[in-house]
Amino acid sequence: MSAPTRPHGAVIEPGTFVVEQRVPQTDLPEGWALINICSVGLCGTDYHIFEGKHPFLEYPRVIGHELSGRLASDVDGFAKGELVVINPYLSCDTCHSCKLGKRNCCSNIEVLGVHRDGGMTPQIAVPVNNLIRAEGLSAQQAAMVEFLAIGAHAVQRSNVAAGARVLVTGVGPIGIGVALFARLKGAEVVLLDVSEERLAAVQTKFGFSQGFTSVSAAIDGVTGFDVVFDATGHRGAIEAGFAAVAFGGTYVLVSVVKETVTFSDPEFHKREMTLLGSRNALQADFDWVLSAMRAGDIDTDELCSAVMPLEDLPAQMESLARDRSGLIKVIVTLGD
Ligand SMILES: [Zn+2]
Ligand SMILES: [Zn+2]
Repeated sequence: MSAPTRPHGAVIEPGTFVVEQRVPQTDLPEGWALINICSVGLCGTDYHIFEGKHPFLEYPRVIGHELSGRLASDVDGFAKGELVVINPYLSCDTCHSCKLGKRNCCSNIEVLGVHRDGGMTPQIAVPVNNLIRAEGLSAQQAAMVEFLAIGAHAVQRSNVAAGARVLVTGVGPIGIGVALFARLKGAEVVLLDVSEERLAAVQTKFGFSQGFTSVSAAIDGVTGFDVVFDATGHRGAIEAGFAAVAFGGTYVLVSVVKETVTFSDPEFHKREMTLLGSRNALQADFDWVLSAMRAGDIDTDELCSAVMPLEDLPAQMESLARDRSGLIKVIVTLGD
């Protein structure tokens, strides 16, 4: 008898998202475990895959990389039924960056739901090394850890100090994560976004008193920011952000664009500016997010814009992708 099929949320081709029945992977490589998926967060990457805007992607693709689930059986110190966050970055552990401890930028990285099929299905096989205990959190909260870890990682990269003046440009989900974790480090956080409406909503929800809609307004009368984080995904905004960095300051590029970014070398040089890329997240960043959530420092109710079961998503996907500026995080539920 062949294995039973299970529903999988897949983008068949750009513009077409369906829940289709497939035979799941059931053979477990050494060191892997089966996880019963509980919740899946939707993010910009998923919408880009749906819209055909992702730079490298093979269709069809089962999406889902912001994942929480429960162990399907006892394995390697984890108990059956235990709630976990899945770190979706599968690394080779043998390349140069992996050997340096930077598995987040493994040169052979495979991200679940991007380079290989993801977790929008009731059960998925993943390496045990990619499981992180999530006791004390709800399954829906646990599905929000990964996107927040990207912001936490950027903040760790920057070495932002207590009292530092920080500018976060672009207040989508990633920028919000950056802002929340920079504030936890004791920084004075100023927000910038081209959408006055989105800016006002984020300021109100999360209690950020200072917000601007242009770089020139943000730096008017001040000497620049100790750390500027870009989370806009726009080349022009990345280039404009250089002017907001104080002398001796740091610029962290969290978002990625396809184009070449240019900047004035004299302006860069006279500031002795530090320019950093920030990609994905490390285990330590996931741990920081989990402890902040457990401490009640992250308002996950405000982060969650909507919750829906997988079967409702095909009818909703197009409108969510088209009109997502008011959304922070949509959580898709598969179990509990
Ligand atoms: Zn994501
Ligand atoms: Zn590697």
